[in-house]
Amino acid sequence: MMTHTRPAPRPLVASLPVYSKAGGTVPPRWRASSNESFLPPSPAVLAAIEEAASHCQRYPSLQGDPLVAALSAQLGVAPEQLVTGAGSLAVLQQLLTAFTGPGTEVVFAWRSYEAYPILVRLAGALDVAVPLAPGHRHDLDAMAGAITESTAAVILCSPNNPTGTVLADAELDAILDRIPPHIVVVLDQAYLEFTDDTGASSARIVALLANHPNLVILRTFSKAYGLAGLRAGYLVTHPDVAAHVRAVSPPFGLNAVAEAAAVAALADDAALAANVATVVEGRTALATALADRGLTLPDSGANFLWLPVGDGSASLEMACLAEGVSVRCFAGEGVRVTVGSRDAEAAVLRAVDAWLAAGNDR
Ligand SMILES: *Cc1c(COP(=O)(O)O)cnc(C)c1O
Repeated sequence: MMTHTRPAPRPLVASLPVYSKAGGTVPPRWRASSNESFLPPSPAVLAAIEEAASHCQRYPSLQGDPLVAALSAQLGVAPEQLVTGAGSLAVLQQLLTAFTGPGTEVVFAWRSYEAYPILVRLAGALDVAVPLAPGHRHDLDAMAGAITESTAAVILCSPNNPTGTVLADAELDAILDRIPPHIVVVLDQAYLEFTDDTGASSARIVALLANHPNLVILRTFSKAYGLAGLRAGYLVTHPDVAAHVRAVSPPFGLNAVAEAAAVAALADDAALAANVATVVEGRTALATALADRGLTLPDSGANFLWLPVGDGSASLEMACLAEGVSVRCFAGEGVRVTVGSRDAEAAVLRAVDAWLAAGNDR
């Protein structure tokens, strides 16, 4: 007889990396730590939320049907190519559950999104983290070289969280041509709307998907659409791939309020444009001000900047907290700062000035 006094989880559960939290013990004045939008939902989105909330005694559609219909029309892809869920992370987890598992490997760049190793290990697969190239960019040669007989998926993140770097169209085409067609290629575009990359155009997506049935594009309403708190995301891929993801998706995975808000946000072009313009303006100004102070940072296509200050990261985070702004610190590597609020950006600059004045090294 076993003598455990409490149920034991699967062994891998104890070994999962923990998703990091913003530092600080008091709520900050500005949250620049999670790449949230600084803008509240638009009136049209709020109205949709209220309407959906008024009948939330009912189940939502089984598979996010109204959102699937709206996305299908906007992107010019068939509804069968879309899978929605409670945030793009939930959809990614379903994808990894369907296509990876024990005995398989998943290749991704590192540092990249910290959820990847957690979700890959949770699926039972081996995480293969390929260090970024100089310039904080994906090392596509090394990633292609890391592919083995066991590789089931490769995750590309563009713009990359937390470095903000963007894969050029030609780079993406080249890596897609190099990856064997039986391997799933995830292109996580959580921050796509903040780039001026042509990857944004739906014509390009349709062409990419037609040429690469193993490509899975991952998108979210959490960032540019400002709905992080509601949890809505989706993937676009070949209908056969989508069908397998749907098979492992929990029924009613997208809640009715999130779905209504996402449909309304998708139609609110003006709100999206205003958010993106606010971010791009702040990003340009803050990047310039930081460069003026001697910091070297990669160009960002996202709603954040990466300050690769290495050993100074923890002290820079403390300086930011002292100015009332929370940021995301990866100790020994760098600090990621969300942009989009002029007040928060000014607070970050004050913090950097104080940090430099205290003798810290760029
Ligand atoms: C924020 C983020 C997501 C979004 O996750 P949701 O579950 O949709 O909120 C996905 N990928 C990356 C790289 C992110 O930074």
